[in-house]
Amino acid sequence: MPELPEVETLCRQLRTKIIGLEITGTFILDGKIEMPGNLKGQRVISVNRRGKRIVIGMDNGKSLEIHLRMTGRLIWQETRAVPPPHSRFVFDLSSNQVMLVDPRRFATLSLREEAIKQDEVVDALAPGCAEFLIAEGRNRRRPLKSFLMDQQIIEGIGNIYACEILHRVGLSPWRETASLSPDDWREMEKAMGTVLSKAIDCRGTSISDWRDLFGNKGDYQNELRVYSREGVTCLRCGGIIHRKRLLGRGTWFCPGCQA
Ligand SMILES: [Zn+2]
Repeated sequence: MPELPEVETLCRQLRTKIIGLEITGTFILDGKIEMPGNLKGQRVISVNRRGKRIVIGMDNGKSLEIHLRMTGRLIWQETRAVPPPHSRFVFDLSSNQVMLVDPRRFATLSLREEAIKQDEVVDALAPGCAEFLIAEGRNRRRPLKSFLMDQQIIEGIGNIYACEILHRVGLSPWRETASLSPDDWREMEKAMGTVLSKAIDCRGTSISDWRDLFGNKGDYQNELRVYSREGVTCLRCGGIIHRKRLLGRGTWFCPGCQA
């Protein structure tokens, strides 16, 4: 599932290609996806990430939001091409195309007319997000990992990066959020920044089907220290990486250095 680094990678790549281009045609290939209004004739003026969503600003003041969810991928084509299997929409931008390929069909499109309130949730890469998490986590008795993955509180982190961040910071995925000190949260903010920034530099993690806008694999799967490494020696303490389920999700951790 695309998480913050993968979506940020797409936003950066889209920015180099589509800003200034006019949307000259929109084609829906899957009746399950709804085209929110008529986008034809709009010029793209910005591409931003909001959590795991891609927000494309247009010159009529509205924004198109693309949420890739489970298996969505965007593909850039310099010339008109036959859409690959599982394509759900095609946007023509002058002579170029952007396609959504999405085998499990959960990706969504929506149109925003108004500015988004910025203070409801915090982005995992927002400077100073530790202070927000201290306030949100103080009274909650829930496992730290599920808190980090709750998109209603903090946006951008899914299963892979939650495991990696918790291993880096040395905290157990099962720790209750209320048991963390303010300094623990500040260390967490640092670990989030380190892991997510490096993953962006690597253009994401291609363990299964993730590809960037140009069809290339990311490289962060070579940097993983704990995710999918069950039975392997821990690079921090020499212990053994374990895998257990936490609220239905596979969770990799080191009992030796995560408490
Ligand atoms: Zn360890």
